[in-house]
Amino acid sequence: MSAPTLKPTRDERPGSRRRGGKRRVHSALIIGAGFSGLGTAIKLSEAGVEDLVILERADRVGGTWRDNTYPGAACDIPSLLYSFSFARNPNWSRAYSPSGEICRHIEDLVDRFDLRRLIHFDTTVLGLEFDRPTGVWTVATDGRTYHARTVVIASGPLSDSSFPDIRGIDDYTGHKIHSSRWDHDYDIAGKHVAVIGTGASAVQIIPELVKTAASVKVFQRTPGWVMPRLDWSTPGPARALFEKLPAVQDAARTALYLGHEVAATGLVWDSPVTTLIQRIAAAHLRLQVKDPWLRRQLTPDFRAGCKRMLMSSDYYPALQRPNCKLITWPIARISQDGIRTSDAVEHRVDCIVFATGYNVHLDGPPYPITGLDGRSLADEWVGHAEAYKSASVSGYPNLFFTTGPNSGPGHNSLLVYVEGQIDYAVRGVTTVLERDLRYLDVRAEVQRRYNERIQRRLRRTTWMSGCSSWYLTKDGYNASMYPGFATQYRRQMGEFRLRDYHLVGGAAGTADRARRRTEAG
Ligand SMILES: Cc1cc2nc3c(=O)[nH]c(=O)nc-3n(C[C@H](O)[C@H](O)[C@H](O)COP(=O)(O)OP(=O)(O)OC[C@H]3O[C@@H](n4cnc5c(N)ncnc54)[C@H](O)[C@@H]3O)c2cc1C
Repeated sequence: MSAPTLKPTRDERPGSRRRGGKRRVHSALIIGAGFSGLGTAIKLSEAGVEDLVILERADRVGGTWRDNTYPGAACDIPSLLYSFSFARNPNWSRAYSPSGEICRHIEDLVDRFDLRRLIHFDTTVLGLEFDRPTGVWTVATDGRTYHARTVVIASGPLSDSSFPDIRGIDDYTGHKIHSSRWDHDYDIAGKHVAVIGTGASAVQIIPELVKTAASVKVFQRTPGWVMPRLDWSTPGPARALFEKLPAVQDAARTALYLGHEVAATGLVWDSPVTTLIQRIAAAHLRLQVKDPWLRRQLTPDFRAGCKRMLMSSDYYPALQRPNCKLITWPIARISQDGIRTSDAVEHRVDCIVFATGYNVHLDGPPYPITGLDGRSLADEWVGHAEAYKSASVSGYPNLFFTTGPNSGPGHNSLLVYVEGQIDYAVRGVTTVLERDLRYLDVRAEVQRRYNERIQRRLRRTTWMSGCSSWYLTKDGYNASMYPGFATQYRRQMGEFRLRDYHLVGGAAGTADRARRRTEAG
């Protein structure tokens, strides 16, 4: 698919046009107001970049945690680690905080760091186009057109929900809910419900649904490895201690971080630690499920770590409630009244919950991005997205990705990785602005060498050990995960090497100033 040329729409805020009708060019533009976008704004402001704007398609901040409000929604990395080190929260109510609390924390960041004035809500980015002569990105939205010298993409790894490609999905006349856009107006109590999917969201939703629904049928394609989730409410004295002595909270965070790093030796690479993790998960299954037939249906046939590990202590008990049934026959089609499985059984239900995940954009950007000389990122990423250090793409200057290609962790908090991406983007943006560059473009051979190394290292990881997962494209290419420890990733992101980039001088601002001087005199 080639990227359309972006037609200039109405220019941003008529009131903000410069005198003489000149367009306004921001120093930096951020797409998305979730953790990544807001964290980038905090760090750019601290670095002295004040002329920045954040575009957010929703009417509130929060990203993942604004959208995922399904019953039981919570993080599955401990809250102490699932937050930014530079914006800690001593008041987490639980070891694994619920979605609403994480969303309130994100709202709190906006107030604490005075970010609201920077955010343009209800603004969906439709595409970006770089102009070589001026070194300016034009950003088309569903409203106005924006211009910026640098752009940070923070539109999220899992922000676009996806429905499965099942025959008859549109024929169904009952109620449909996607886990990431829960319909709170629909009362589940007393209803017959089907849940499609048994991944990370499903194992949180099902234990809640069985409490009130008349019946819950769980349609499983492949079972995952489930580890017990040791959740508890944070005792008041611990919160008071974290508040008074931040160093104690930092120490607890570091301990959790290191614990997760150790887990990488089994979750990222296939090793004796993988076998140990698998044994713990198998023991958890044996302890919680006594029926050997059900246990067999719930036993995965792939190595732990190959797909995302599931964390739950109440999923197996929920499946064994009298009103819950696990269905392992493949779905043949969705009919008008429910789900037909390939054993020719028609499961009539009032509501289908699709816990079927997201469009993870492994082989194309979420919107058209046009770089130097009309290059289209959608064309270049067909089959395999790649970037340098997950952040820069050759031919697309002054553009920095958060949660870009091969930046995903299998064992640690994504926010640890995002902090590294933010630092990297801030170095890139400030380099362009302070040196008054027209553009900064990563060298193609540097990007190629980096990705050859990443793909070589990926071959030895559990993700490539033979299962199919959303980490891989349908051709088996891994464009999502980083094959290493979080510490290695953070180290690479802490180093911004100018020699890796083409630096092209004579920024738009410089050219404009020169032209104005000529005109004036
Ligand atoms: C249910 C669920 C549970 C998770 N649990 C964990 C966990 O326990 N631990 C962990 O490490 N990670 C977890 N994750 C991953 C999670 O997505 C990240 O940790 C984190 O929230 C990503 O933040 P983000 O800001 O990069 O993206 P998001 O939170 O997705 O924010 C992106 C923002 O960009 C906006 N946007 C998107 N497209 C456009 C556009 N075209 N124009 C304008 N705005 C746009 C979106 O509306 C959104 O507000 C979970 C994800 C999900 C879905």
